Amino acid sequence: MLTLIKKPTAEVLSNAAELLRQGQPVAIPTETVYGLAASAYDIDACRRVFEIKGRPQDNPLIVHISDLNMLYGFTKEVPPLALTLAERFWSGPLTMIFKRKDIIPAGVCGGLDTVAVRMPDCDPVRQLIRLCGFPLAAPSANLSGSPSPTTARHVYDDLNGKIPLIIDGGECRAGVESTVICFTGEKGVRILRPGAVTAEMLGEYAEVEWDENVFKQPEKDARVISPGMKYKHYSPKAEIIIVKAQSVQALAEYLNARRGEGVYAVLYGDEEGIDLPRIDYGVTPTERAHNLFAALRKTDELGARTAYVRCPETDGIGAAVYNRLLRAAAFRVVEL
Ligand code: AMP
Ligand code: MG
Repeated sequence: MLTLIKKPTAEVLSNAAELLRQGQPVAIPTETVYGLAASAYDIDACRRVFEIKGRPQDNPLIVHISDLNMLYGFTKEVPPLALTLAERFWSGPLTMIFKRKDIIPAGVCGGLDTVAVRMPDCDPVRQLIRLCGFPLAAPSANLSGSPSPTTARHVYDDLNGKIPLIIDGGECRAGVESTVICFTGEKGVRILRPGAVTAEMLGEYAEVEWDENVFKQPEKDARVISPGMKYKHYSPKAEIIIVKAQSVQALAEYLNARRGEGVYAVLYGDEEGIDLPRIDYGVTPTERAHNLFAALRKTDELGARTAYVRCPETDGIGAAVYNRLLRAAAFRVVEL
């Protein structure tokens, strides 16, 4: 199959809607990462998405809507807190979990009786959903396990020949996937996956707790609320090792002692005295989120065997970066 990369003109969006109506998955840009979309009401189309990505069947898809009223078509209860959060954070990178109506097939949601929903902050995609008239289920448009795609080129590298169309919306603004939350009561939410809507931001509207598996490896065979948390994720071919250092000097000493063929350092960019070939992922927390996945993909382009990554901060959007890195590194962390 020929895979086209097209800018989101009116004609391209209309063609994309037609492909989606026919049950063919289409890659879409969003403000978080690129998604591989199919009608959330069409189990055969969604099965194709799982198959193309090689995604485990029990890892549920996030359903994307263009307008708030769409939400009522396929959820059973919308708590008042959800409306407050929707008003503040939609369109945007916040995914909320609701009870699902049967119009969303169980297979789309990994067999759960809930559905995860968000409204992307990306005009062409909301336009596309309106053209379709149905919500789009869309996981990240990468091969399962590899770093998420933040450019059309990344999608092409993973899915060339497997899908008919990639809509090219340029580089994704946020660069990490959405924050996923569920409701714990009238006033409370639990963060299942951190993202660009931070705990601090949610804290202005709700009591916030963290799921225990956000920063640690779920026990083998544990029943986790958010099935995506138990899989190896976001990994390039290189072995990724996170390095937590008290100072740049300590970091430099540790890294310089590990120079060798195929050994790289992924750094903020402002460190001095480090002699390894380096990939910089950003001096500010927002830059690091924006560049993380591209930096992980870069280690493969360079043929890295091992990449030591300077640990990001763990508050604000840093929590999202750290959460993804832990999985990319299979929880290998060196503390100096
Ligand atoms: P991705 O599509 O790669 O962004 O991953 C979506 C993630 O959202 C999954 O890995 C799940 O962990 C989470 N998720 C989606 N739907 C649900 C749900 N119904 N309940 C809990 N977590 C969900
Ligand atoms: Mg993913």
